[in-house]
Order: sequence, then structure tokens, then C-alpha cells
Amino acid sequence: MLSTMQDVPLTVTRILVHGMTIHGKSQVTTWTGEPEPQRRSFAEVGRRAVQLANALRDELGVTGDQRVATLMWNNSEHVETYLAVPSMGAVLHTLNLRLAPEQLIWVVNHAEDKIVVVNGSLLPLLAPLLPHLPTIEHVVVAGPGDRSVLDGAAPRVHEYEELLAGRPTTYDWPELDERQAAAMCYTSGTTGEPKGVVYSHRSIYLHSMQVNMAESMGLTDKDTTLVVVPQFHVNAWGLPHSTFMTGVNMLMPDRFLQPAPLAEMIERERPTHAAAVPTIWQGLLAEVTARPRDLSSMARVTIGGAACPPSLMEAYDKLGVRLCHAWGMTETSPLGTMANPPAGLTDEEEWPYRITQGRFPAGVEARLVGPAGDHLPWDGESAGELEVRGPWIAGAYYGGSDGESLRPEDKFSEDGWLKTGDVGVISDEGFLTLTDRAKDVIKSGGEWISSVALENAIMAHPDVAEAAVVAVPDDRWGERPLATVVLKEGATADYAALKAFLARTVAKWQLPERWTVIPAVPKTSVGKFDKKVIRKQYADGELDVTQL
Ligand code: ADP
Repeated sequence: MLSTMQDVPLTVTRILVHGMTIHGKSQVTTWTGEPEPQRRSFAEVGRRAVQLANALRDELGVTGDQRVATLMWNNSEHVETYLAVPSMGAVLHTLNLRLAPEQLIWVVNHAEDKIVVVNGSLLPLLAPLLPHLPTIEHVVVAGPGDRSVLDGAAPRVHEYEELLAGRPTTYDWPELDERQAAAMCYTSGTTGEPKGVVYSHRSIYLHSMQVNMAESMGLTDKDTTLVVVPQFHVNAWGLPHSTFMTGVNMLMPDRFLQPAPLAEMIERERPTHAAAVPTIWQGLLAEVTARPRDLSSMARVTIGGAACPPSLMEAYDKLGVRLCHAWGMTETSPLGTMANPPAGLTDEEEWPYRITQGRFPAGVEARLVGPAGDHLPWDGESAGELEVRGPWIAGAYYGGSDGESLRPEDKFSEDGWLKTGDVGVISDEGFLTLTDRAKDVIKSGGEWISSVALENAIMAHPDVAEAAVVAVPDDRWGERPLATVVLKEGATADYAALKAFLARTVAKWQLPERWTVIPAVPKTSVGKFDKKVIRKQYADGELDVTQL
């Protein structure tokens, strides 16, 4: 028997129309570096999105599922593009502005982007790539920046504001199939070529609802969220869509992502929530330690993309800012887990839950798979590779316009689950603790050592700003951990003391015997520890390693 319910498609169009009408007074505030930020209401942002859709169709000839790329910071125009492009039936392709030029060229050509909307300040990055991007027919430039770098390099250049000016403020939105492509984002391609994840209208809609649930970010129109996580990093974790659903105000940092302007933004605009990777919060902590600022409005922070050291959570607790750990991937839209503890616990009882990666929502099914392909129990002890499935989890990668979707064996199980490449345990209450990425696990004498656990323990030392631990070859044990440490200003390296400090919480056989101080941990394009760079530096003999 079929249901008697209406079958209304779940679309980004719906999110746009709802946000601009029902939550028309909510605001997108974009930092400009000027005394006053730019402020636009959702009604205005929505209206501009409608005008953009008209311009893309009528002036630039966008039809069907053509790809419109963005090379942009987090700002109002980027939100407008986020909403306009999928709503008209085209596909938004967010470009990671920190990728190497060859990678950017590869992903634009693979996606066959027709148009790129670019911030003026990023033109020096785009201009030299254009000769290698034959599918790009139009470049749309938004915001300040010297246009002359495009002279002679670009096919057709348009000013964003001029394109919008005088356009109709209504659009006859097409009836879309909710399973249709709405947006795409390529994985960073640390191993092999980048892989394209294509989000559907339905997946974005359902993911946005999950982001809005109290067990996830749970924000309302009384909140303002500071969206530090770039819009090119997995849809800014869903915030541009989820906020339009519930009227959460957005504070957008544009290109002002350094600790000092972030601290100023928080103090002046008083957001109640923020989202970013641990590196950002480490940097901000150092800034406010040196030059105290009032961060107290920001009661809640969503932190993820890489493991959050418990010491960082403790430091922010003291500032009245509660970091809430979340796990996800480009392939998972990204929300996979969030570490809100169960009800009825004291602060002390909540702690063991807070330092996990968190609990799975109803839309994400999880299982742990052991080395022999067996499914492991959720007992908090059995460690295996995490596999997930659900309506906002990728089931394949984009195979190009004339190719089939790709389902590489190392990424998808035979029965269609996503193999995350993350290794960890799950408690009987469904809380996930990740110990490593499969490729970062240290295999020492047949046992696994968690690099993340060692990093967390080292970063708890008061002299340490950051620490990354990688596996290095060892004649006797196969692999052993190498500890690379970034010291706080004014601290000096005392490896024996650090090792003794670790010995308080870490089993003796896991203690690193190789130590080195580095000026900064190398980071990936989205600010995560880039361990392959450290492994290479070690292999090339570039690190001054002390053996204890
Ligand atoms: P990239 O591969 O470029 O880092 P993603 O953003 O898709 O791209 O990265 C997803 C990976 O980031 C996960 O598979 C996991 O290894 C790591 N990750 C994300 N969130 C967390 C977290 N809270 N704790 C530990 N690792 C995390």
C-alpha cells in the first residue's frame, strides 16, 4: 500500500523561498575590513539570488545542469550563488582556493564548469589558470580587487553588481526532481586525483534539517553564527542552507580569517555560535591569550574536520566558550556525528562524551569493519574502519559528463556503504571515538598506536602549542611514532620532560623515542595537519630528530 501523503520534492529552491520570506529580517553580515561591515537581510540576499538566477539564464545563457563554479570567500554574494544556482536547476561547484593551481585546473576541467564567479581579491589566482580552462565561457567578478589582471586572459568578464542591477526579482522556478544534482565539491585528492562528490537537492535539504536539530547545531533565529569554515569546504558544513531554513543570522568573515580580525569580529558582532577546524581555534586562543578579547557571546562552537585536542576544549571552557566536536567528510555532506552528551549529566560526567567525535543521528547508519571484513561490536574497545550510509552520504563519485559514476572498491563496500578510511571504536551508546585515519595509524610490532591519542596527550603540556605524530620506519618494530612539536612562545624544548609528562597517561610501549621541534605543523588546504609532508621531511632527512 502506498501512502496518502503529498510527494513534494525537497529542493534548495524551497530553502531559498522560505528563508527570504518567512525569515526575511534575519541578516547576512559580511566583514569588509572597513569600520562598518556590509549588512543584508535574508529578504535582500534572497532577492539578489533571484536576480542572479535571471542574469545567469538571460545574460550568460545558463541552461540545464551546467556547472557554475565559485572561487570565493565566505560572503553575501557567495550565499546568493549557493541559493540561485541550484534553484534554477544548474549545479554549483565550489572551488577550493587553497588548492595547487594544477589541482584547480583539473577539477574545473573535470566538472566542465561554464561560468566562474570570483571575488576580485582572488583574480591574481584565477587569471593565470584561465588559459588552461577551455570550458569557462564567462567570468563574473564580485567585490573589491584589481580587475586589470584579467586583461586579455579572460573570455568574457562581467561585474557581479552590474549583472544583477535592474533584473527581475521574480523567477519562474523549474519543477526539479529532488534527486537531481544541486552542488558538487571535490575531495582534496591527497591520494590520486580529486574525486567529485555531487549533492542532490534532497540530500542538501535533509542534511540542513539535521544540522538544525537540537542534537546537532540546534540554532534558531535568535542566534548568529560566525561561519569561519570556508564555503568551499563541504558546503561550509551546511550552514548557508540550514540558516536559511531557520533564520539563523550569518556573520561572514570574507578574507579576514586571521586570528586578530576574527577576535575583533566576535567582540564587535557578538555571534552566539561559530564553526571551524581546530587550527583556527588554536590560532584564536593564542591571539586572545596575548591580547585579551571578550569571546563570551560565542557560547557554542562546532569544531571538526580534524580531531579536537581535549586540552583545547578545556582552554575554551575557561573562556566561557563550549567547543562541540563533530565528525564528517566531503562524502558525508559533511555532518556524520556530533558530540552533544546525553541528558542529565554533571559537567564532569559529560566530559568523556565531549571528547569523543560524537553520536550518530538517525540519518547516519554506522558500522565498524575489522581487518578480516568482519563487523565489530559497539563495545568501546573493538577498533575497525568506520563505514556509513544514509540519505546525505555519497554512494559514488562523479565520473565526468560522458562517464559512469565511480565506485572505487577502497571507498565503497559491495553493499554500497561508504568506507570512510577512518579507524576507531563506537561505544554501546553510539558515540564514536576515532583513533586515526587508516593511512596515519602507526603499526608497531603488530600493535596499532593511535597518533591522535599521542597528539592529544602532548598538546596537554603547557609548553606545547601544537603537536603532530607520524609513523616512521623502524628496523625493530616496523614503525614507531615520531613526535613533532611546536612550542609556545618563550618555551624551550625539554624532550625528556615531555616524554615523562606523556608517560603519566600513555602506555610505555607507545611512548615516542623520536622527537623534534618544528616552527609550525604543515597544514592542508582546509587547515588540517598534513602528515604526508612531515613523513616526507623525515624521509628526506630535513628534520633535526633527537632520539631518547
Ligand atoms: P580532506 O580529505 O581534504 O581532509 P574532508 O574534509 O572530506 O577532506 O576530510 C574528512 C576527514 O577528516 C575524515 O575522514 C576524518 O579523517 C577527518 N575528520 C573530520 N572530522 C574529524 C574529527 N572530528 N576528528 C577526527 N578526524 C576528523
